[in-house]
Amino acid sequence: METPGNAACGKGAPSTSYSESEDFAGLQAEGGLKGTLRLEPLNSQEVSFRTIQAVQALFQRQSSETSEEQSFWYLDMMSDATVSRFLFAEKGDASKACKRLLATWKWRKKNQPWAVKCHLCISDHRTHDFRYLCHDQYSRPVLYLSFATFHNPESNLLMDHVIAQIEQCTALYLEGSGGGAGDGQASTFVWVADYTGFGLRHPGLNPRFPLSLAYTFQTHYPERLGAVLCVDAPSIFEGVWNVIQPALDAKTRSKIHFVRGAQGRSEMANELFGPARSNLAYWLVDHMNKVRQPDYRERFWQDPHEMPPAE
Ligand SMILES: [Zn+2]
Repeated sequence: METPGNAACGKGAPSTSYSESEDFAGLQAEGGLKGTLRLEPLNSQEVSFRTIQAVQALFQRQSSETSEEQSFWYLDMMSDATVSRFLFAEKGDASKACKRLLATWKWRKKNQPWAVKCHLCISDHRTHDFRYLCHDQYSRPVLYLSFATFHNPESNLLMDHVIAQIEQCTALYLEGSGGGAGDGQASTFVWVADYTGFGLRHPGLNPRFPLSLAYTFQTHYPERLGAVLCVDAPSIFEGVWNVIQPALDAKTRSKIHFVRGAQGRSEMANELFGPARSNLAYWLVDHMNKVRQPDYRERFWQDPHEMPPAE
């Protein structure tokens, strides 16, 4: 998570060509709010403890790691919560779940995502604006991305930043503060992607990035995604969406919602936080309103960085 800390760094936010008239109205018609956005976690598929144990034994045998080689992250792959998620994803098929666990473990050992950091943001914390905000009413971490406040829209290493944030959410569950650890469906997170300011220079416009992101999510983080809320996607996103959509499985596609306009943003925030946490809903709506003001973008990276009220 970035913690901007130097007012002297503020050179202003990137200029953008966003305007309300450029909103991708087609997306809203296809998957938009329609006043019925529902974000509650789906019901989990029942997975018996015996099936989980069978997958764990199979995984241990086939991964062939000695007890000395078994790292913390290896044991996390073997945990009831992780095995449950892979079993959910494979509709309870132990053999397929184990095969997928092994492939993901191979990927994790090679890439060590738990240690990935965004070096662009380490050298300049203003590079990307994609951060953990708070938990929603279902105890899921909420990640918020704002293209308008990217300081360097041309940066092409957003994937490292995204992976670091997802792993941070995973750490919240491992620490027991993510809510519902051990329940495959409850251990998800929500991603609010605010497309205000999205333009030709952003990495998300090249389909290669979102395709790679979709592949990584679907393959190595099954059942982690609770919902993706694309806010005010502009017309230039239509081409990207047309390329991404066929690459998404039906379950992932069903979790992507397009939100548009002030009323849509307000309904989304209320649905995320519910009446008991209306202060967080108010904060998010207010923050998104501010991000739409160029003079606020100029001030955004100055101290102190605006964060939601304490949970
Ligand atoms: Zn970054």
